[in-house]
Amino acid sequence: MRVLLVEDDSMIGDSVRKGLRQDGFTVDWVRDGKAAEAALAGHTYDAILLDLGLPGKGGVEVLKSLRRAGNDVPVLITTARDAVSDRVAGLDNGADDYIVKPFDLDELAARIRAVVRRRAGRAESLIRAGDVTLDPASHRVTLRGSAVALSARELALLEALLDRRGAILSRSQLEERIYGWGEEVESNAVEVYVHALRKKLGADLIKTVRGVGYVVPAER
Ligand code: CA
Repeated sequence: MRVLLVEDDSMIGDSVRKGLRQDGFTVDWVRDGKAAEAALAGHTYDAILLDLGLPGKGGVEVLKSLRRAGNDVPVLITTARDAVSDRVAGLDNGADDYIVKPFDLDELAARIRAVVRRRAGRAESLIRAGDVTLDPASHRVTLRGSAVALSARELALLEALLDRRGAILSRSQLEERIYGWGEEVESNAVEVYVHALRKKLGADLIKTVRGVGYVVPAER
């Protein structure tokens, strides 16, 4: 899952980025509203973690322009404990949830997964596709009930396809999901990971759509 972290406090930003990465998220970190808008213009995110108290253009303003532009990416706002009116303004302007600082990193990760899941219209946390299940919280993948060990990037790729089940994702869309900024994209990485996933989870889970990309077909 690729998350945009908008946070001007270096200490908080650094620890959140570290914590979420350890939890398997791909994290891009920006420190103000303008940089957030630039990131959003060029990339697709699964969720945004938005500090409301930002220098310059504030978090609520960023949120308003995002929603005005028709972008419905899940947004989790972060606020100080006493900032009740900010929280209300954030929720009223299109935030999906909020978390109060200082927060626990495990709780943060769980809340991000929850807003993403709700946005995808899934009440159940476990994702199923044929004989394969994926638990986004524990990163546990099973094939016919037996655990299958996947690398972090294989897992990110599988999650991307299962989250958008039935949609064809291009190679560059998949690369976006499995690499953050500044990470060098290995050539043929997507093909290599798809090949590994097919070997581990069965040849017919992921279909190649020649010249377009890859898809996990929707259940009929
Ligand atoms: Ca702040």
